[in-house]
Amino acid sequence: TDHKVAALARRADFPGLVTASGAAWHYLDSAATAQKPQAVIDAASRAMGRDYATVHRGVYARSAEMTLAYEAARRRVAQFIGGQEDELVFTRGATEAINLVAQSWGLANLKSGDRILLSELEHHSNIVPWQMLAERVGAQIDVCPLTDDGRIDLDAAQAILTSDHKLVAFAHVSNVLGSVLDARRAADLAHAVGAKILIDGCQAVPRLPVDVTALDCDFYAFSAHKLYGPTGIGALWAKADILNAMPPWQGGGAMIDKVTFARTTYAPAPQRFEAGTPAIVEAIAFGAACDYVSAIGLEAIHAHEAELVAQTRDALRQMNDITLFGPEDSAGIVSFSIDGIHPHDLGTILDEENVAIRAGHHCAQPLMDKLGVPATARASFGIYSDETDVAALVRGIERTKRIFG
Ligand code: PMP
Repeated sequence: TDHKVAALARRADFPGLVTASGAAWHYLDSAATAQKPQAVIDAASRAMGRDYATVHRGVYARSAEMTLAYEAARRRVAQFIGGQEDELVFTRGATEAINLVAQSWGLANLKSGDRILLSELEHHSNIVPWQMLAERVGAQIDVCPLTDDGRIDLDAAQAILTSDHKLVAFAHVSNVLGSVLDARRAADLAHAVGAKILIDGCQAVPRLPVDVTALDCDFYAFSAHKLYGPTGIGALWAKADILNAMPPWQGGGAMIDKVTFARTTYAPAPQRFEAGTPAIVEAIAFGAACDYVSAIGLEAIHAHEAELVAQTRDALRQMNDITLFGPEDSAGIVSFSIDGIHPHDLGTILDEENVAIRAGHHCAQPLMDKLGVPATARASFGIYSDETDVAALVRGIERTKRIFG
């Protein structure tokens, strides 16, 4: 296509987008983790420097200010996905958020004979915690199939769901296929049989406007590092009545009301789920990432990435021996394979051209089995991606095909 897609954000905002020798780096692995804008780096640096102190217990002014900043970040992150601050727990990331739900809500609410519905495209972090829970309580896991173009098949989900199902856990956007779930319909289907629904929003939050209230989901999990924020922090949002009824998970400081050797009482949610000194610096930088992304706007980001996906899919379709996975309207992610060339070999040759893609099973081995491949190559976009990245990818693939041809 002759469309021109200028990066939505200035590349100069992202110090990570150059190679060690200062050349342009065609970073096409934002679905694994996004590069950070200087505004986020500066927020972290200030929080770790001149503003640094602990939260929640200091009697001195600096700590009181840090507590306000930490709680403001919670408000900011909650608001970013359309939730309330008392419904948002800071976790280490999406993985920890899902484990928290499995071990706190899951152990309290599931029993032998209950069923959990997952889908064929889930990331291991939305499979394994449920398997661990199911094994402990004697629950069963059902797997919802995909449509031919790689979406979670909600008609099939409707047919599978029974009153034995206590939980549905689906990805909002697939990290391999980029397919977007109709999360509101999935929530309605779950609720119709009395089940709760957890949405794994890792890949959706950086790519689509998300409003947990409109989606009517019960739990929503995501990580800051894919949203242009720091590693080591993420969030679990849960409906207030569900979160308030959940038993504590990890024990320690900050999550208690009163401790004696005879009996301990617990703080209300969300503090009840944040044992220990929290990731103060990371939380503040997470809030700054929400500000940065909001200033650009998720509608614009979604449209921008859709354009890059269309360009990439069009270019790859012109080549022989390439299989494209996932739907045409994939959100920011293009997975493909080339006959006779292992994705790792492709990734290695692309790296020589300063093009970074992901090659592997993408922590979705059951999906690889379903696709009938050991691995795929994956290009994924962000707000700084543009048509020069797509062109570099296409040049690199052509060269790889010549080498292996
Ligand atoms: N779910 C999906 C869809 C993901 O893409 C990822 C990260 N690859 C995760 C869950 C896990 O996120 P994290 O490793 O940040 O906890």
